[in-house]
Amino acid sequence: MIAVVGAGLMGAATAWQLARRGHEVTLVEAHTIGHRHGSSHGSSRIFRRAYADPLYVGLAGRAYEEWRELERDSATPLLRTTGGLDLGEGRDPEALAGILGAAGVPYELLGAQAASERWPFVRFDGPVLYHPGAGVVDADATVAACVRRARELGAQVLAGVRVVGVEGGRVRLADGREVVAETVVVAAGAWLPDLGLSVVLPELRVTQQQVFHFRQRRPDDEWPVLVAKDANTQVYGLPSGSDGGAAPAMKVAEHDRGTPTSADTRSGIPDPGSRTRVTALVEERLPGLEPAPVAEATCLYTTTPDEDFVLDRHGFLVIVSPCSGHGAKFTPLIGAMAADLATGEAEPHPRFRLRR
Ligand SMILES: Cc1cc2nc3c(=O)[nH]c(=O)nc-3n(C[C@H](O)[C@H](O)[C@H](O)COP(=O)(O)OP(=O)(O)OC[C@H]3O[C@@H](n4cnc5c(N)ncnc54)[C@H](O)[C@@H]3O)c2cc1C
Repeated sequence: MIAVVGAGLMGAATAWQLARRGHEVTLVEAHTIGHRHGSSHGSSRIFRRAYADPLYVGLAGRAYEEWRELERDSATPLLRTTGGLDLGEGRDPEALAGILGAAGVPYELLGAQAASERWPFVRFDGPVLYHPGAGVVDADATVAACVRRARELGAQVLAGVRVVGVEGGRVRLADGREVVAETVVVAAGAWLPDLGLSVVLPELRVTQQQVFHFRQRRPDDEWPVLVAKDANTQVYGLPSGSDGGAAPAMKVAEHDRGTPTSADTRSGIPDPGSRTRVTALVEERLPGLEPAPVAEATCLYTTTPDEDFVLDRHGFLVIVSPCSGHGAKFTPLIGAMAADLATGEAEPHPRFRLRR
């Protein structure tokens, strides 16, 4: 029996992957399935191949196949392809183009003028990388689909009950029950450091981040996802999905150091400074959006110093902590990699070790 602690994107995907391989699985979640206290809530996350690091370019390609598999298995559309733009000196579009080209990923490199003609709702002032394979994944729908399919495939799902200790293969629950497992997969997100596990974790920085939704001026404009970085700031944008309301909107946010916090003490209140900066940026650079947010939300990043994931096995424990603000796009692949570790079918990737 394999126990999985946490039903955010990663635990839910791990339970689904294990259940479809025929393993006996118990998934334990402290809150309700689909709650908004962690990192996996909301209707939109960026999927993109464009990474400066070829490791992630390759992983995103494998993840794409797993997304299509999850969609087939759950009969649920989860990944919508929109294309993606990378711009700004910090993203170095020319260098990214070289990396995508070497990996065989289709892309176009455009000058500012050509990009402005194609996407008149964005202001460009330098080269732009476009890659058509980027898009948006629906995080809420993904958690729901994975948990539903895991259950249908025989997994036991215990929601609304917190794991208070893991000793040997015994997973102790707050209501006094115990789950006995050969292997325990811990996918506890920002709560991971609080579990008191018998492993040395890398330094994990938990921060509260905020996102803002801006309505499109013209509902028919087809917005791609965007990642823009200059010397000091990185901002991203993507179609909001249902979080932006009934009319089409874009989610825009800073990918920054956030506000240090912990999973249980975070305020849940968006930083007004971030709202002011993002609104000013929308006004200046994204003329196709109405520059007043129609919705906003907070979320937690759990970040390692090198922003690589943790995906490792230590005795009976498998630790799955793939966030650092960029894990969602890999969800069904992370589920497969965690399942491989839990069943001993694969060794941990050296970059994702607990100690590195
Ligand atoms: C604002 C924001 C924007 C993002 N944008 C992107 C993006 O555009 N593209 C991208 O690829 N990634 C993005 N990410 C990252 C992505 O969302 C995360 O990588 C992912 O959600 C992490 O999921 P998780 O399952 O590890 O953590 P979580 O979602 O936090 O899940 C952990 C779960 O474990 C449960 N749990 C914890 N402790 C216990 C316990 N003791 N007992 C039982 N259950 C427990 C929690 O309740 C929780 O449900 C973004 C993240 C944020 C916050």
